[in-house]
Amino acid sequence: MKHELPKLPYDYDALEPYIDARTMEIHHGKHHQAYVIKLNDALDKYPELYEKSLEELMLNLDSIPKDIRAAVRNNAGGHLNHSFFWKVMKPISDGSGDEPSGKLVEAISASFSDFQKFKEEFSKTAVGFFGSGWVWLVCDKNGKTAITTTPDHLTPIMKNQKPLLVLDVWEHAYYLKYQNRRPEYIEAWWNVVNWEEAEKNFQLLNY
Ligand code: MN
Repeated sequence: MKHELPKLPYDYDALEPYIDARTMEIHHGKHHQAYVIKLNDALDKYPELYEKSLEELMLNLDSIPKDIRAAVRNNAGGHLNHSFFWKVMKPISDGSGDEPSGKLVEAISASFSDFQKFKEEFSKTAVGFFGSGWVWLVCDKNGKTAITTTPDHLTPIMKNQKPLLVLDVWEHAYYLKYQNRRPEYIEAWWNVVNWEEAEKNFQLLNY
């Protein structure tokens, strides 16, 4: 089955004023849409690959035919990461600036001493990341949390890490509103983090 652009779980203007509607519209409706279209274009040459999930494609890039491998890496990764990114944000109308709770906050404190330290470390990593990519809160199979980055549209599942939360630091994610001021974008983003979703991702690990 062909891949499809997922619906946003909220309206384009739902993350205002932190992430503006125009940026969301272009980011989801143009950038993400383009990854989906280009992924389908590549897979059309090898339709049997439509049976693979995005994760399976990314975990088995070596087995993808050479002529579409780069297209699959970039566009399956772009589709996967953006689909995840939309879900770990939420409209501020349901309570802004909240924090994780329960087992996740315990796991974060165990790795970073406390939540505030984690935030500082994550922001520092995001500000300092060079080029286009993603900054993640991940955990290993034992539930130990860490901050990691991936260039382009690569995913930490390729490093055996489970994504809990992610921030897109490609310029297209913030340039319209923040131009070169990436630190302001990062600071603003904390207001729309969906910690409930991150906790859900963390719980899924504890089988
Ligand atoms: Mn993006």
